[in-house]
Amino acid sequence: MHSESASCSRHVCVGALFLALAPILGAAVSQPPITVKSFGQLKDGTPAHLYTLQNSSGFRADITDFGGTVVSVFAPDKDGALADVSLGFDNVADYETRSPYFGATIGRYGNRIGAKGFTLDGVRYTPPLNSGPPEARCTLHGGTGFDKALWRARPTMIDGDPALVLEHTSPDGDQGFPGTLEVEVTYRVTPDNALRIDYRATTDKPTVVNLTNHTYFNLRGEGTGTILDHVLTIHGGRITPVDPHLIPTGAFMPVAGTPFDFTSPHVIGARIGADHEQVKFGGGYDHNWVLDKPAGKLALIATLHDPTSGRVMDVLTTEPGVQFYSGNFLNGAKGKSGHTYAKRDGLCLETQHFPDSPNKPQFPSTVLRPGETYATTTVYRFVAR
Ligand code: BGC
Repeated sequence: MHSESASCSRHVCVGALFLALAPILGAAVSQPPITVKSFGQLKDGTPAHLYTLQNSSGFRADITDFGGTVVSVFAPDKDGALADVSLGFDNVADYETRSPYFGATIGRYGNRIGAKGFTLDGVRYTPPLNSGPPEARCTLHGGTGFDKALWRARPTMIDGDPALVLEHTSPDGDQGFPGTLEVEVTYRVTPDNALRIDYRATTDKPTVVNLTNHTYFNLRGEGTGTILDHVLTIHGGRITPVDPHLIPTGAFMPVAGTPFDFTSPHVIGARIGADHEQVKFGGGYDHNWVLDKPAGKLALIATLHDPTSGRVMDVLTTEPGVQFYSGNFLNGAKGKSGHTYAKRDGLCLETQHFPDSPNKPQFPSTVLRPGETYATTTVYRFVAR
């Protein structure tokens, strides 16, 4: 079981001491690269922690071991002013009881699996059906998945950058998925104001796996209103269209000439109300884009720009797809500092394999077999202009 002293490397303890002394030593003391503090307790009394990773220019990410969750990302605007650009809560209790996956690590399978389960090597598996109307229930984000686990946390420095290694063992049969899955997610803050996420997993039986991060971004700052004025580019010429219950049909739809064409920059709100069947099914944007890049290559796949603050977020990934979710189901939840998050006050760019791949042989495979290592990387990089 995780304990603060076990997870507290020498560097981090020094960092915590630094922080404690900062008010005494005065403003000349700069923030250390890694600090850790309490993030409250789970319902069963287990303590959760909040780790802060910060680079020398002040860009920082706060991450909790509960759910492997990104709680905050502080990025500079065009005048250098930092704001928290990710939606979330102030304490772990809210993440445990009422979070729409804010910032969470998603597993075992990101997004939806339809057909009430899947068949692998001739065996039928039935993960929990936790989403959709009674006549079309599906599995969303792996059931009650990795977002509700307390991960083992190990702060460390990687090539001079502050990092947090989070580990989780998902037992054979967890949420109906086969195989014991050993998962490692490494968060790292780099000098170019990026949050890099490296995912690794191994299994002892054939299984399917699709990990992602579910941070809701608002580049003007969380709690400042809508993302409809943000400008988005996605380097993907097709989406995987969905049925009325957001399960991919298995087809590919070219985006050219549709509200889904973000191959050049477009204001998100400009076409979100368009009279297009796919927009209606999604209640806005809630679709998987097929990325135009070689499989497995880490490449720039999307750029989000807030003209008001000047903040720009580049997204790079090795994954073949990205779910652009325009926060259509946000419904006024009270978040950090009492801020209210209404419909479309945040958006997600969830890098992933395609939804429902276990039932769609024409999609890139999500099967992981013993002896193989699942390894993907995603980078959220911030600049301002
Ligand atoms: C899904 C949405 C869902 C949201 C929050 C997104 O990844 O595509 O349909 O509402 O996650 O669960």
